[in-house]
Amino acid sequence: MLDRLWRGWRSARDDAALRRRAIPDDLWKRTLVRYPFLQRRNPAAATELRRLTSLFLDRKEFDCTGGLKLTDALAVSIAAQAALPVLRLGLERYDGFVGLVVHPEAVVARRSEADDDGVVHEYDEPLAGEAMDGGPVMLVWPDVRRAGQSAPQGYNVVIHEFAHVLDMADGLADGVPLLPPGIARDDWCTTLDREYEAFVARVEREEDTALDPYGASAVEEFFAVASESFFVDPLRMRAEHAALYALFTRFYGQDPVSDLPEKVLLKPS
Ligand SMILES: [Zn+2]
Repeated sequence: MLDRLWRGWRSARDDAALRRRAIPDDLWKRTLVRYPFLQRRNPAAATELRRLTSLFLDRKEFDCTGGLKLTDALAVSIAAQAALPVLRLGLERYDGFVGLVVHPEAVVARRSEADDDGVVHEYDEPLAGEAMDGGPVMLVWPDVRRAGQSAPQGYNVVIHEFAHVLDMADGLADGVPLLPPGIARDDWCTTLDREYEAFVARVEREEDTALDPYGASAVEEFFAVASESFFVDPLRMRAEHAALYALFTRFYGQDPVSDLPEKVLLKPS
C-alpha cells in the first residue's frame, strides 16, 4: 500500500516536472542534429531520453561562470548527454549531487604530486571537466559543444564526468560503480583490470587506440574513457574491447551499436 502511494506520488511529481521542463520540438531536434550519438533507433528509447533530459533539467542546478550565458540550448545539450548513460539505470543514480558549474574556457588546476623519491612536483593541468564526490560537476562549454565533432575520436566530456559520478556513488573512485544484481563484483574487476592492463601496454607502445590514451593513467579513468567511447564511437570500442563492450551492455542496459541509427554509425570519421 505504502509502496503504491509512493509510486503514485513519484509519478505525479515527475509529470509536473515534465510539464515545467518540456523541451520545445525544434530545440530537441537541433540537439539531436548537433549530437548525433544521442539519436536512438528504438522509438521508446528516444522518448525516454527526452523525458530523462527534462527531469534532469528539473532536478539539477546550472551555474555558468566567466560571463558565459546560461541558455536553454546549453542546458539541454548537457542534460541530454548526461541522461544518455542512465537511460536504463535511472536518473536516481545522480541523486548524490545537484549543481553543475559550466566554464567558458578550460580551467587550469594546480596539481602537486610526490615522485618515488618523495620529491613533490607542482604542475598545471588544463581540465575540460571534473566530477567530485557529492560536489558539483564542472564542465567546460567549448568541449561540451564540440561533442558531435569529437565523437569519432571517442571523446565526450559529459559522459566522462558522469561515468565518474556513477563510479563514485559508493564513495570510491575505483572504476567499480554500483553494480546491478546480475553482475558480480569479481567478474567486473577481472574484465576491467585485464582490459586496462592490455590498454596500458598498448599506450606505452604508442599504438593508435580507439580510446583516449588518458585512460591509461588510472583504472577509474579507464572506466570513464571507455564509457565515453562506448556511447559515442561504439563500433570501434566494440572492435578493440569486445569483452568490455559486452560487460558495459549489461551494466548500462544498452547496446549502442544496435541502438544508434545506421546513418549515425556509418558516418565517416
Ligand atoms: Zn576523469
